[in-house]
Amino acid sequence: MRSTHYDLIIVGAGALGSFHAYHGCNKGLKVLLLEKDIQPQEATVRNFGQVVPSGMSRGKWQHYGRRSLEIYKSLQSKFDISVRQHGSVYIASDETELTLINELSDINQKDGYTSTLLTKKECLEKYPGLKEDYCKGAIFYPDEITVEPDKMIHRVIAFMGEQLQLTYRPDTLVSFCDFVNGKCIVEDNLGNAYTSDKVIICNGRDFRNLYPQVFYESDIEVSKLQMMKTVPQNNYKLHGSILTGLSIRRYESFHECPSYPTLKAGEIEERFKKWGVHILFKQAADGSIIIGDSHQYADAKQQDKLGFEVNQEINEIIIEEAKRIFNLPTWKMAAYWNGYYGQSKSHDVFKKEVATNIHIVTAIGGKGMTGSAGLAEENIKEIYC
Ligand SMILES: Cc1cc2nc3c(=O)[nH]c(=O)nc-3n(C[C@H](O)[C@H](O)[C@H](O)COP(=O)(O)OP(=O)(O)OC[C@H]3O[C@@H](n4cnc5c(N)ncnc54)[C@H](O)[C@@H]3O)c2cc1C
Repeated sequence: MRSTHYDLIIVGAGALGSFHAYHGCNKGLKVLLLEKDIQPQEATVRNFGQVVPSGMSRGKWQHYGRRSLEIYKSLQSKFDISVRQHGSVYIASDETELTLINELSDINQKDGYTSTLLTKKECLEKYPGLKEDYCKGAIFYPDEITVEPDKMIHRVIAFMGEQLQLTYRPDTLVSFCDFVNGKCIVEDNLGNAYTSDKVIICNGRDFRNLYPQVFYESDIEVSKLQMMKTVPQNNYKLHGSILTGLSIRRYESFHECPSYPTLKAGEIEERFKKWGVHILFKQAADGSIIIGDSHQYADAKQQDKLGFEVNQEINEIIIEEAKRIFNLPTWKMAAYWNGYYGQSKSHDVFKKEVATNIHIVTAIGGKGMTGSAGLAEENIKEIYC
């Protein structure tokens, strides 16, 4: 059995784990990042890659999101991690959504967060294929970015290995972790042991291997999302993150608009409500368009009940609504997949010190590509204060 001592061991190399490792390395710590799979293949690589502080609630999460934007851009200036800055747009499809984007524009101005309102005509010029009868106007955030979910985290890890002295061990399932005789002991399923002063567990939705009782007694639920991707679109460009009417009705930032409750913006068609559908588009670097998504929920302990199948009824609802919004050159699909993330019913993220110097940080929900880099920076400060 080999043993090596680190300042900090991170379990899980998704967005949360990798960004905790990044801030730990930047602090000059000797960091070991352990990942159970050959490369991370969970929520962090299955998403849209939309970095959208504009959708987050004001205060804490918008702050993390805006700080994440700075971190992504700073990383991109040193190493290509696939950041593109083409902004985010929320397209209103009726008077209710139009009122909300106008109100959010006023709020943004007070908060010093740059956004501009686009007229219907401006939207139609900026976003080719956008349907005239869908669009009533939009709010646009020029500072926001996208990343390529199938590349970003692998490149951040590569950067940390090359330039920040990170030690990274993929294909290493951590099966034991405890604080014993003044240090943290971490063991993997092949019997290798590592020690450290501190451990941060960012296990995503894997609740079986480490401290299962903590998760099973928590109010964490798992959400299953259905996603799809078209084949590459020839000679067609759709820039940035495209969010639409149902997202305006769903995202937290809009809930804070003064007339959100009176407009009954939460009242949406039953088929969308049943499957938690809202429609987002993002063109990947290869020209394909990622389209989603839906939300189904099960408690952490029973997440297997969500199943592995891609439900065709949900796909049809997503595609039908997507076609009402855009006229794409081709709707031929190249892939369908499911993504899963944990979220707490009562907290915006799950944080717990489960033993001396052993911290769990997980269940960041649907905001991990936007908020993880900023949240991780603050956690490292807190843990090392
Ligand atoms: C379909 C979909 C679309 C989304 N779109 C967006 C978006 O556009 N913008 C946005 O901001 N957010 C989005 N999200 C949310 C975002 O993807 C997640 O919040 C984020 O990826 C969660 O990161 P994580 O590190 O907590 O979890 P994960 O990505 O699940 O990473 C956890 C990692 O820990 C590893 N691990 C677990 N247990 C162990 C163990 N015992 N030993 C070793 N390794 C272990 C796992 O293998 C995994 O790699 C989306 C999510 C989904 C599913």
